[in-house]
Amino acid sequence: MLQEIHSDRFFMGRLHHGDDLLEALHRACREWHIHLGRVTAIGAVQKATLGYYDQTLHTYQTIQLDRHLEIVQLTGNISVKDDKPFVHAHVTLSDASGRTYGGHLFPGTAVFACETVIESFRGPVFRRASDPITGLPLWQ
Ligand code: ZN
Repeated sequence: MLQEIHSDRFFMGRLHHGDDLLEALHRACREWHIHLGRVTAIGAVQKATLGYYDQTLHTYQTIQLDRHLEIVQLTGNISVKDDKPFVHAHVTLSDASGRTYGGHLFPGTAVFACETVIESFRGPVFRRASDPITGLPLWQ
């Protein structure tokens, strides 16, 4: 089930104002040839699109948050899907009253300001493919 991996390189930087958060992380992985790793980030977004996976229907419901929010925590991993780096990330976001929202990060989340750290690993290829039991693109 688990496989051994080794820490390789770290990358740290700021994403651009207005960037799509998920696309910016994918772009960084392509640029630095990161196919295995993990990502964390904090900052703020202008709006967000999150997902909740319906385990009965095997589909994502999207949650649209058209408001300014803090990124309390973004955590995710990097592996390979369709022969390209693929970022799977979950976020916790907070509003002006401190109320939090969370879920699977979808495209449609606009960066206000975001500081990210990416760690790349050396190890076997973690390739995603459709899993018949969950309907999700899981590691094979
Ligand atoms: Zn997810």
